[in-house]
Formats: sequence, C-alpha cells, structure tokens
Amino acid sequence: MNKVTEMPRSHRSVEFFPPKDEAAENLFRQTAEAVAAWGPDWVSITYGAGGKTRENTFRWSRYLQNELNLRVIPHLTCVAQTREELETMIKQIADEGFAGIMALRGDAPQGHEGPFPCAPGLKYAGDLVEFIKMIAPELEIGVAGYPERHPEAPSLDQDIEHLKNKVNRGADHIVTQLFFDNADFFNFETRIREAGIAHPLVPGLMPPTSLARIEKFCNFCGSRIPPGLRHALSQAGGSGEAARRAGIDWTLSQLRGLAAAGHHSFHLYILNNPTVFRILAKELDSTS
Ligand SMILES: Cc1cc2nc3c(=O)[nH]c(=O)nc-3n(C[C@H](O)[C@H](O)[C@H](O)COP(=O)(O)OP(=O)(O)OC[C@H]3O[C@@H](n4cnc5c(N)ncnc54)[C@H](O)[C@@H]3O)c2cc1C
Repeated sequence: MNKVTEMPRSHRSVEFFPPKDEAAENLFRQTAEAVAAWGPDWVSITYGAGGKTRENTFRWSRYLQNELNLRVIPHLTCVAQTREELETMIKQIADEGFAGIMALRGDAPQGHEGPFPCAPGLKYAGDLVEFIKMIAPELEIGVAGYPERHPEAPSLDQDIEHLKNKVNRGADHIVTQLFFDNADFFNFETRIREAGIAHPLVPGLMPPTSLARIEKFCNFCGSRIPPGLRHALSQAGGSGEAARRAGIDWTLSQLRGLAAAGHHSFHLYILNNPTVFRILAKELDSTS
C-alpha cells in the first residue's frame, strides 16, 4: 500500500517537530519509540524557518525511517528558499526513499518587511505542489487545510478555492490545521466536498495542554479557543498537570465526537510528548 488515498478509511498519523537540545532529543526518541511500537500508517515532521532547524528535519526524518522503520512524510516549505535549494531537497527526499512531502508555503520570518520572500513562481503551496510533481512525481503530496480559514484569506470560500488549486495541481491528501470545535471541521468538510474536493481530509488534533501556550499559537494561526475549553483550562490553573489533563480530556472528547460521526482517520499533533501520545493512542485503540 502506498498513498494515503489507497489506505483504509481508518488510518492514523502522528506529527513530530525536530528537537532543539539534548533533553528534547531524549524525549523525541522516547516518543518516537512508543509511536513505532503502536504502528501508525505514517508520521510527519515539521520543517522550520532557520537553516539548522531545516537540517534537523532531515536528520530526524532519517532516524524515524531508517532506525524505526516508519513511513515518513517530511514537511517542506517554499518561503525564503531558492528554486535550486528546493529542487535539491525534493531530489534528496525522493532519493532517500521517503514516502512523500507535506508541501507548505510557510510564513515570512519574524520582523520581515516588504514583499513576501519567495523564489520566482514559488509563492504559494500550490506552486510547490506543482514543482514537486515535476521533479519527483512518485512522491505522495500532503497539503494543509484550514477549517476556520487561513488567517490571510479574506473568506473561507476563497481559502477553499485555493485549497482546490493545490489539489488540482497534484496534492494527494489534506491535513487540517488544529481546531477545538468539531463543528468547524464538519462545516469545512461539507464546504470542500460541495466545492468538488474529494481527496482524503484528515483532521489534525492537538491537545491544548496549557492556556498560555495555546493562546499564543491560536493568535498566530487563527484557530478559535471555544469558551468551554478556555473555562476548563482556567479552572485547572491554566498550566501544569491539571491543565494538561483538562486539555487532553478535551481532545479525547473531540476524538469521540469525530469517531461517532464516522471519522476514523486522525493526524495527532503529539508535541513530542510520550505521555500525551500514549493517552491519545489508547483512546484510538478503544474506539476503532
Ligand atoms: C498540517 C499543517 C502543517 C504545517 N507544517 C508547517 C511546517 O512544517 N513548517 C512551517 O513553517 N509551517 C507549517 N505550517 C504552517 C503553514 O506554513 C502556515 O499556515 C502558512 O501561513 C500557510 O501555509 P500553506 O501551505 O497553507 O499556504 P498556502 O496554501 O499557500 O496558503 C497561504 C495563503 O495564501 C492563499 N493562497 C493560496 N494560493 C493562492 C493563490 N494562488 N492566490 C492567492 N492566494 C492564495 C491562501 O488562501 C492562504 O490565505 C503547517 C500548517 C498546517 C495546517
């Protein structure tokens, strides 16, 4: 079995980010070993803004693929990169036998002023999708979808048109931005199907384990924190063990709601945290 499109309706994937120091590396390894023992259909690993973080994506992708035998889809962003750099990376990903690429635009570096920094003809993720198809057509291509719309998009309709463009140019599956209200996902799913997008849509779920952390992230990515979640995290002290438990409980109830509506494929943003991962995996094992 190769592409997500060919996988059974129920498939699970997990997202990592490259660790930054030795302590984080240890946690990454512990989490990755637990993930490998569980046996997800695929895993992905984010691609950072700086040079060192970018190298780390490949270093840890190799570890996941070559040492743990996982099916790996590394992320790649086209922001602030030349065509040559991107071409080299795409060839490297294909040559090293990775399953595919999560094709993203990325964001301009903090403090950047002036026009969006991109190579000619590579301004949007859709351009990157087409570029990958040209260089390594065998790779599976994932793209991002935004149930609450991408923050720069003037409307959800226009954002969905741009998503359609990514799919029409060769993307194979869509992974969503995190969301905390399943109603937003169901609405998005209906709207993209109405727009004629039939590709696999995988809900991305992140446990909100600290109020401050999730507020910061949501301010940036535009996802909403429902009042009930804000209340639950505040009541639990905002951060620390009780808040972490409250956040995980929220995600577990999202998982149950999605499963009850017939969704059995999930992409888990597990924060490189073995405890968070184990709790979510146990829930998935009991609902499938
Ligand atoms: C699942 C997932 C994984 C992610 N992983 C990473 C990662 O590893 N590294 C990282 O840096 N970031 C990552 N991000 C964040 C992502 O890079 C940002 O959200 C970024 O702002 C947009 O990326 P995109 O690929 O969705 O861009 P695009 O699809 O290019 O969309 C960006 C904006 O441009 C608009 N647009 C798209 N095409 C056109 C067009 N042809 N004409 C006019 N407007 C257009 C869209 O509506 C949207 O508003 C991830 C996001 C998600 C949801």
